[in-house]
Amino acid sequence: MKRLAILGGGYGGLRILLDLLEKQLPEDIEITIIDRNPYHSVKTEFYTIAAGTSAERDVRMDFPQDERVRYVYGEIQQIDTSNEQIHLTGHDPVPYDYLVIALGCEDNYHGVPGAAEFTESVQTFRRVRHTGMAVGNLPAYGKVTIVGAGLSGIEVAAEIRESRSDLNIRVLDRGATVLKAFDPKIQEHVTDWFRSNDVDVFHNSSVEYVEHGGVCNNGVCYINDVTIWTAGVQPNQLARDLPFEKDNQDKIVVNDYFQVPAQKNVYIVGDCASSVHSPSGQLAGQQGEQIAEVLLAVLTGGRPKRPKEIKLKGTLGSLGKTDGFGNMMQKPVTGYLPRMLKSGVLWLNKRH
Ligand SMILES: Cc1cc2nc3c(=O)[nH]c(=O)nc-3n(C[C@H](O)[C@H](O)[C@H](O)COP(=O)(O)OP(=O)(O)OC[C@H]3O[C@@H](n4cnc5c(N)ncnc54)[C@H](O)[C@@H]3O)c2cc1C
Repeated sequence: MKRLAILGGGYGGLRILLDLLEKQLPEDIEITIIDRNPYHSVKTEFYTIAAGTSAERDVRMDFPQDERVRYVYGEIQQIDTSNEQIHLTGHDPVPYDYLVIALGCEDNYHGVPGAAEFTESVQTFRRVRHTGMAVGNLPAYGKVTIVGAGLSGIEVAAEIRESRSDLNIRVLDRGATVLKAFDPKIQEHVTDWFRSNDVDVFHNSSVEYVEHGGVCNNGVCYINDVTIWTAGVQPNQLARDLPFEKDNQDKIVVNDYFQVPAQKNVYIVGDCASSVHSPSGQLAGQQGEQIAEVLLAVLTGGRPKRPKEIKLKGTLGSLGKTDGFGNMMQKPVTGYLPRMLKSGVLWLNKRH
């Protein structure tokens, strides 16, 4: 029996599983998925949980039931690559012959004092539920600060505005414009949307510290009720702790087959894997497809084909439920159309 363990049933892990199940797998392969949650989290929609505009059921999906797959639910504590086993709470260690690490990312607080203790997060289901409660329980005209104006910060701020017109919402943006990786047309559209929807954006911000009831930026301290951190991510701590080579963002370096060069039975996907591309669900999914092909060849005793270069299709973002932005056919597009397209892509992904 060959034992394949997949750690994390998110965008990368689930894609590998689904693709493997579609193939004619040899009978002597046992697949184990380990995740803290007994469902797949649609993380790209977590901003709706933070704003209270989605039911939780709409942002998670059941894992596929298949006799070739065993699910183990628990909090992974350690990946022991020397003895090839996984330690997790409430369960015996899970041994493996082949391993996929698909554990995603967590907040990077960049050493800002108080950020870990006093900010809300959108990075895990447990923490984004807490964020949604904190925002939802605010009294009239409560104050919300979002630190970071990348894709997730923008979506969180816009969705909260649409959900609660009374709240005072402030975005602290390190850059000179929002969404620094996007086209100027998109940056302008988002800036206009925030202006006309009464969301304050402070550019060139440098948050010095966060405390209970306040956030201090560029020497000015604001009284604030809820601070949401969207100012950076880093690979999951379990991946960062592994004795493998990392890049300058602490992501694990892999070869062309997504294998760890020092232990080729270990594969890394998504936010934990070093890549020329920025981390995204789309990237994790495409890497997952390629890893499934490689694994299938390896597990059936063949030679894997070298995966092709990854070509991403561009990013779609939302400004509430009826406005958005994104790249279509390499062109920046704003307004209703990209927003509808984003909903359509989500619907298709869920159906698949
Ligand atoms: C608000 C927001 C909006 C986003 N919007 C977009 C977007 O529009 N487009 C896009 O492409 N990307 C978007 N992203 C990024 C995208 O969600 C991630 O890049 C993607 O989820 C990474 O996939 P992954 O497989 O690496 O990890 P994940 O999908 O995060 O999966 C990790 C899995 O590991 C499990 N896990 C983690 N630690 C443990 C542990 N210790 N024990 C057990 N289980 C564990 C988790 O429960 C989870 O199921 C967004 C992210 C956020 C937060």
